[in-house]
Amino acid sequence: MIHIFQVDDKVENITEYIVKHLARVCDNIGPDDIENITYLEMAYYRVMDDRRIKPEDRSLLCILDKIEEDLLYDQEIFGKRAEFILHFFELDLLRAALSSNNNLEELKLLGRVRALKLQFFPHAAPEKNGGELTPSGMKKYIDQYVIEQEQAKKAVCLAVYRHKKMVKHPGDKFAPNVVLLVGPSGCGKTEIMRRIHEITDEPMICTDVSSLGASQYRGRHKEDLLISLWEASGRKKSLAERGIIFMDEFDKILLPAYSERGVNVHDDVQSQLLTMLEGSDVELKVNGRVFTMNTSKILFVLAGAFQGVEECIHESYASHGNQSGFIGFSNPLKNEVDTGFEKRNITHEILMNYGMKRELAGRISDIAVLKELNRKDLLRILKDSKDNLPERYAREVRLACGAELEFTEEALDKIVDMALEEKTGARALHHLVRRAVRTCLYQAPDRKDLERIIITKEVVTGAAEPDFLLRQEGTDWKSEECDEETL
Ligand code: ADP
Repeated sequence: MIHIFQVDDKVENITEYIVKHLARVCDNIGPDDIENITYLEMAYYRVMDDRRIKPEDRSLLCILDKIEEDLLYDQEIFGKRAEFILHFFELDLLRAALSSNNNLEELKLLGRVRALKLQFFPHAAPEKNGGELTPSGMKKYIDQYVIEQEQAKKAVCLAVYRHKKMVKHPGDKFAPNVVLLVGPSGCGKTEIMRRIHEITDEPMICTDVSSLGASQYRGRHKEDLLISLWEASGRKKSLAERGIIFMDEFDKILLPAYSERGVNVHDDVQSQLLTMLEGSDVELKVNGRVFTMNTSKILFVLAGAFQGVEECIHESYASHGNQSGFIGFSNPLKNEVDTGFEKRNITHEILMNYGMKRELAGRISDIAVLKELNRKDLLRILKDSKDNLPERYAREVRLACGAELEFTEEALDKIVDMALEEKTGARALHHLVRRAVRTCLYQAPDRKDLERIIITKEVVTGAAEPDFLLRQEGTDWKSEECDEETL
């Protein structure tokens, strides 16, 4: 990620950076965008020329300062271009955000962008499609990007909708609103959150809670999660207090982890998180400044793979048998025990058997189970989902040299085969597609003579180079063996 420009960045690099990142977030780049790119370049030059900013302090945050300066000077003149740039940064950062554990620099940037947008363009709130977003309206948006996982999409959309209501009506009492997403790695848990982040104006962080430590020890604690959220809110406490915290790897803190003194650290971590989930005032210290943040209006979404939960289901079945009132553990029609990874099998009781404290389990208002993605789903992710990987790279190549990048059906099948072997769900698609296109990404900027680039099955396996078809008069393509330096 090169969101922070280095001191010695060349001018070509900034243009390249902007074009590349624009390609990531915009379907089409038109003549207006060229003007916008120039505006962004100018802000960059102004940062470079500003002697008050030390070279090592030059960053995208400084560019945002310049944009703010412009907007304060004359919003009429600079407004349209600045709005586009802020929107571009926001989308670009959102793509990067939540990709792993949040990077604090990126969160700060996103927070600053959002704060500027709220200050100067309040009308441009994401809920632009006719007022309030309903759960089904949000799901419709996510459906374009996330294949399958209906239950989880509905649960998250409903929770976000209820959260907005709670924020709007602070005096009213609402039942707890904490969602737990249970599903294997790479099945879309984070992707659902990433997409919902694009259409809500609430600040959001994604954090891996498996590394949280006990409060009396050094390390990351609940306070650090809240500081990240505060940064992602442009350091606006009121905004952070109505934000969203997505806690990934939540299952990891349900399993015991003993310190050298034999204390179960995760017991304390669960208690810390419980106080946050219940709603409390938490004291935060940032650069010597102390303030409290109230967590009662924050939406918490928890997620985890819950490996080995089947065992708890088996055990539970064994102890309860077919007692009435204990739902979902046998299928009388098939006369067999159903102890699989299904919603009806993941109950609060199972969560407690897995290691969750009773009070914590009691806060969870909705549990959604996501399925493991199969061959058909992975293929749909590559072909049917909006902004899919082949499309994204095709856009980048088109921008770099005007050529069309195409994947054969066999190539896509092969990528899916290889992804299934890796057993990391759809996550593997990213590096497999990237590996297939890296030669053409490398060569594209120098090749204005190309009409089409074809990625075949052999390119995917690394047995061949892409087919480069040269631009020609007429309809026949002239194919060229790739003999240039490849990566
Ligand atoms: P996890 O379930 O472990 O949180 P992610 O949601 O981060 O996994 O998925 C990893 C990547 O795989 C995402 O960036 C996304 O591109 C892709 N992906 C995963 N599941 C889906 C899905 N159901 N539909 C579309 N893309 C998906």
